[in-house]
This record gives sequence, structure tokens and C-alpha cells, in this order.
Amino acid sequence: MVRVSRLSAGGIAAELGIVPGTELLSVNGRPLADFLDWEFLTADENLLIEARLPGGDLVEYDIERPEGESMGLELEPPAIRRCANRCEFCFIEGLPQGLRKPLYVRDDDYRLSFAYGNFATLSNLKERDFERILEYRLSPLYVSVHATTWEARKKLLNNPRVPDILQQLTRLADGGIQIHAQLFVVPGLNDGEVLEQSLADLWSFGDAVLSVALVPVGTTQFSHLYTGEPMNEENARRILARVDAWEERALRERGERWVYGSDELYLLARRELPEAAHYGDFPQIENGVGAVASLRERVRAGLDRLPRLDGKRIGVVTGVSMAGLMPSLLEQLQRRTGAQFDLIPTVNSLFGPTVTTAGLLVGADIRRALGSRGDLDIALIPAETINDAGLFLDDEPFVTLREALPMPVYPSYDFIDVLASEGQRAAA
Ligand code: SF4
Repeated sequence: MVRVSRLSAGGIAAELGIVPGTELLSVNGRPLADFLDWEFLTADENLLIEARLPGGDLVEYDIERPEGESMGLELEPPAIRRCANRCEFCFIEGLPQGLRKPLYVRDDDYRLSFAYGNFATLSNLKERDFERILEYRLSPLYVSVHATTWEARKKLLNNPRVPDILQQLTRLADGGIQIHAQLFVVPGLNDGEVLEQSLADLWSFGDAVLSVALVPVGTTQFSHLYTGEPMNEENARRILARVDAWEERALRERGERWVYGSDELYLLARRELPEAAHYGDFPQIENGVGAVASLRERVRAGLDRLPRLDGKRIGVVTGVSMAGLMPSLLEQLQRRTGAQFDLIPTVNSLFGPTVTTAGLLVGADIRRALGSRGDLDIALIPAETINDAGLFLDDEPFVTLREALPMPVYPSYDFIDVLASEGQRAAA
């Protein structure tokens, strides 16, 4: 069902008399199944829209939409396609009980892959889905490949009915669809020959596979399904050696790196993270590939905008994995502003010590880290820890936490976003 949630004042839809709650049924005679149909079918200028108003009246709108003008409406979020797999390393299986319900939804939805860059395994694709992907040219898609050999993929996804990804990718590539691939690497399962074969298979698709990210398997203290070997420094080094070899080949033959190790892989291997130039246009930054390089770059570029903050003491809360990388960044900030920066590496109390990512810290962790730090003038916390509704993963509202702490606290993505205006704030 496709239902209107909001209208922009003065927009086409509002002028037609469409109101929130209106159900959109068809466009030019084609029934609407979801937001994709709406987006693509309303690309025409001449539209015959069939709708049902909240009171039940059926109406038809026959309109000529001026070129480039949007319809001026937003749709209710779509019903998410659920995942048919049961991966041992699934992060959702590794969540503790008692969190808010939406966090337990295992989505595997090609539509969100196209619209938002969410990774999908394609294992729940039906014939109709393929037809839509090809008709609407949903490209690029973000695909969790994990392995191209069928037996290994069945094991990794813990799903004996998983389709052959090579056949699926062939059909997509033949239809002009490009993909960004990710491979979660599980030691003992897909880190040796299976990994090599998978990279070779993906490479053989040519331009249809735009980039490949290798991500080390991660588990929490609640990952009860996981029976594989833990990822450690030695495994990470071996995987990166393979990345190096493939990068070299890709640079030689295609002029770009094509395959990337995630930041986490470099951290586990205790290898220096590459500079920003390594990542080109950062094709998988949302997947933790090049995020550190990008942060370093943004800090470097933003230093000139920072005011002097002499005498200030600034706390910086981060996860354990980022703690080792912070001193060099904080030194630059310190030199430029004159402030003293205190790094506060914080252990994740909800997921356990194996989860070291800054963005997964919860309200209770930050409360514990800062609650007794009356010596700080301000504190910066990772902005990724707070969702659009202002909640941490443990449901603590940011506003409540902020009021309880003895210093002003600011969510920050890259230090510059907060510190650039700290001079005015202090003077106000
Ligand atoms: S594909 Fe695997 S990891 Fe992703 S949601 Fe499904 S079970 Fe979890």
C-alpha cells in the first residue's frame, strides 16, 4: 500500500486536494505496490492518478505536471522486506534483549539497497523483483555477496535455499545494473580459496562490479549462533595481503583500486590506515571503508576555521578501536586552538568489550565516562551514537543525558563541526 504521510504547502498534490492518509492506487493505469512504483511512474509529465481519500472516496486526478516540478508529497515508510537467512554472525542475532523493537528487524530489501545504500543479499528476490530492478534500472545496488561459491554462501548465510549469486549477478549485469559488493570474511570459511575465487568471479564481471569491500566478521557477547573462529590480527593481516595483491592488479588493469579493506580490518591487523587518496571517491564509506581517512582529511581541511580556545579543557569520548588513532588528530586540534584535549576511550557495556566501534556506544557508557568529569569545560561524543529521534541504542534520550552531565556535551562528527563555533558560544 502506498499512502501519503505529508504534503508540502502549495505543492501539486496539496492543490489537487490530496491529504495525509490518501492511498495512491495507480498511475496511468499501473497499480502501485510501493514507493518505487510511485517514484518511477510519476516521472512522466501527463499523469492519471487513481487514489482513495481517507474517507473512502475514490478519485482520479488527470494532470499535466510542469517539467522538473515535484508532486510535493511524502509517503509513509514502506513495509520492509525481511531477511530469509540466519547468518551466524548476524549483528541482530547478537543484540541483547530488551532494546526497542525496530532494532531487531532483519531487513534484506533491494529497494532500500537502491534508495539508501543498505546492503541486501538478494536471496529473497522473486521473478517480479528482478523485472522491476531491470525495468526501473535500479543501479547501483549494494550487495552482500560474502562468497560466490554456492556451498560457501549457503553456509555463510545459513540458508540452504539461497540462490546462486553468480547467476543473479549475471542477470543483473546483462541488464546494465551495477553493484557495490561486500564480503564479510569469516576465518576458516571464506578467507582462503573461497575468498580468492570470489574476488576472481567478481572481477570477471568487469564494470558491473564497481567496488568490493572486505569486512572482518564481528561478534558481540550475545552472538549465540556464531561457531566460527574469531577474527584476530594474523587473520586480518592475511586478508589484507590478499587485498594488496588484488589492488595492485586492479590499479594496473583498470586504473583504480576496486577492492578495499574496511578500516576495522586495518585496525585489527595493526596496519597503518591508508590516506584519503587511496579511496578515490570513497565508494563504500558508509560501510566503514575509508571513514578514518575521511575524518583526518576533514580535520586537516577545517583547522583554519577553528578559534583560539586557550585554557579550555575538552573531553573526547570514543570507542576503544578509535582510541589509538586519536592522539595525532587531537594534537593538531590542540596546536591550533590552544585547548587541552582529554581522550576518553570507553568500553561498550551493552554489547561487551569485543564491540569497540565508537558509533555503538550507548547512553549509559557516556554517562559513566563523563559523569564525574567536573574538570572538563565541554565534551564531544560521537554523533553516530544518536539516532534521528535523539535516542541512544539503549533508548536513553540525548537531552536527558545532557542535562545530567556536569559539562555542556555536543555530538560531533569531525570535531570541526562543533569547535568552529565554540569561540562564539563561549563569548555569548
Ligand atoms: S543477511 Fe544475515 S546478517 Fe543480514 S540481516 Fe540477514 S541474517 Fe542478519
